[in-house]
Amino acid sequence: MKQKLKKVALLISTFVCAFSVNAEEEITLYTHRHYESDQALFEQFEKETGIDVKVVKASADGLMERLKAEGKNTPADVLITADAGRLYKAKEQGLLQPVESEILIERVPANLRDPDNNWFGFTERARIFAYAKDRVKPEELSTYEELAEPQWRGRILARSSSNIYNQSLLASIIAADGEKEAYNWASDVRKNMARPPQGSDRDQMRAVAAGLGDVAIVNTYYLGLLLNSDNPKDKEVGESLGVFFPNQKGRGTHINISGAGVVANASNPEGAKRFLEFLASDEAQQSFPESSYEYPVVEGIKWSPLLESWGQFKQDDLSLSKLGEMNAEAIRVFNRAGWE
Ligand code: FE
Repeated sequence: MKQKLKKVALLISTFVCAFSVNAEEEITLYTHRHYESDQALFEQFEKETGIDVKVVKASADGLMERLKAEGKNTPADVLITADAGRLYKAKEQGLLQPVESEILIERVPANLRDPDNNWFGFTERARIFAYAKDRVKPEELSTYEELAEPQWRGRILARSSSNIYNQSLLASIIAADGEKEAYNWASDVRKNMARPPQGSDRDQMRAVAAGLGDVAIVNTYYLGLLLNSDNPKDKEVGESLGVFFPNQKGRGTHINISGAGVVANASNPEGAKRFLEFLASDEAQQSFPESSYEYPVVEGIKWSPLLESWGQFKQDDLSLSKLGEMNAEAIRVFNRAGWE
């Protein structure tokens, strides 16, 4: 009798559950990305799966603080953020959960995802040199390391070391050259700067265009944003700059990702997993080069004419989770080297 009652209860709960899922299944995304094209992607996902997408936007650090504070009561199912260093931090803080998905393992290259499947990269960016075409010949450029040489005195522009993109770049240099060399590099590049580090990646390129310095260290998509800006001045800035991919003869150019993971306390982890798989689909991957000037992570996806114009390049294939592991060390090295 007891057994029977249990069975009935199970049937009822299964029915209720299935019914409520069909009626109003939804996922909530925490994201700090601000591309209109992301919204179009979310709508496409809704159309294909019937799962409603709710979006909460805030700064990357703000979202992580919020996840921590909300704990089990969080409405979030998916965290989307840029930089493997940040995703690593989210995992370390227990904010994410592993996802078992053959699709993700197959489509996202191993170095662009967490070894324990807590996060996956969905778009790629390269940290490159944007140089003044009228003052620098690409033959004069070669590696990140070479920016420490005296011929670059007063000519380099870079943002502050509190920025995770620079922390991840330095982590990759520590991984390649060791801490001592990385320290020498950071202090010499700091000496070669045209001004104390300040502003955004785009501000560094604006400063090069204004003649303040000759070479800026920036992420590729920011150049795409300038070139496609409604502001004619920014467009002009973009057009005055050349793109150089460092370390082509060695380990390759430092790359990073925008990525996502399923929130540890997600109320709809299955829906969240489907969303991640959707981000790895051809359809989503094809949209990134056109809409946000980022590279797809899935092989064989066509690039946009802009990305094609920058050319193919060799990428540093360091596992990006290393960037997170070495983040604290990178911050220490920056501080010791006096890179504000
Ligand atoms: Fe960015």
